[in-house]
Amino acid sequence: MNILTIDVEDWYHGIIRINKRPDSWGSYEDRVESSTFNTLQLLKKSKTKATFFILGYVAERHPGLVLKIKDDGHEIATHGYQHQFIYTQHPDEYYLDLKKAKDIIEGIIGEEILGYRAPYFTITKKTLWALEKINDLGFKYDSSIFPTKNNIYGIMSAPRLPYITDYNILEYPPTCRKIFGQNIPVSGGFYFRIFPYWFIKSSFRKINNKGCPVVSYFHTSDLDIEQPKVNCSFFEKFIHYYNLKTMKPKLEKLLTEFQFTSMSKYLKIHETSKNHYYWSRSGRTVRSI
Ligand SMILES: [Zn+2]
Repeated sequence: MNILTIDVEDWYHGIIRINKRPDSWGSYEDRVESSTFNTLQLLKKSKTKATFFILGYVAERHPGLVLKIKDDGHEIATHGYQHQFIYTQHPDEYYLDLKKAKDIIEGIIGEEILGYRAPYFTITKKTLWALEKINDLGFKYDSSIFPTKNNIYGIMSAPRLPYITDYNILEYPPTCRKIFGQNIPVSGGFYFRIFPYWFIKSSFRKINNKGCPVVSYFHTSDLDIEQPKVNCSFFEKFIHYYNLKTMKPKLEKLLTEFQFTSMSKYLKIHETSKNHYYWSRSGRTVRSI
């Protein structure tokens, strides 16, 4: 059994130049409802349940969308309110942003949410303090510490498999595969788009054969082939728009060939598992259980 997670934000939230200027967001086309409906259709076809990390900004404007996701039997979790890099925020500002998102979403669904994913996976070595805030707000699990490294996110030395970190937060890192000593992300939106299906499939097999789940993710905008093309750097264009048309067929195959569930359902099944080990703020394994 693998874990499927979906980040619900609009297409422009992933484009850094636009994302940095929330005052301009109102001038961009709102496409999050249609891309989320497409995602829900895809999941319905394969009878798959997933965890949806919803941006507070989106939930506030589309409460009906949040309820529709819930009514379809998926888990509701959050992606923070305003999708800013955590390392550009003061800890107090970060806390208020996350609290705002949690309050909005819980107000819509009428129940507590347990899970969180940071914008752009920006819990890095510099921002491990965020775990304390996540715990203060009552979250039980996080899926933000990418065990790889690029210019935006990642901690290369972080464990690749689920573990317990500071403040007893369960960490479910997006899955990487070790190739020639490097942790290569294999289970996410952009990585689903750049890698051929056979490579994604073999990575899932390899990890499942070890008895471990793949923690996979994508954005609803990864399925939106008609989203506007805006001016941005070559690098950003590549990350955001490359191979969008391959996403749906790849996901359809993946959802047929592998089993997925939401994070909360996975945790319920594996709550008593002894597979978790601890990894502390200092970045070393403290003990296994
Ligand atoms: Zn995001």
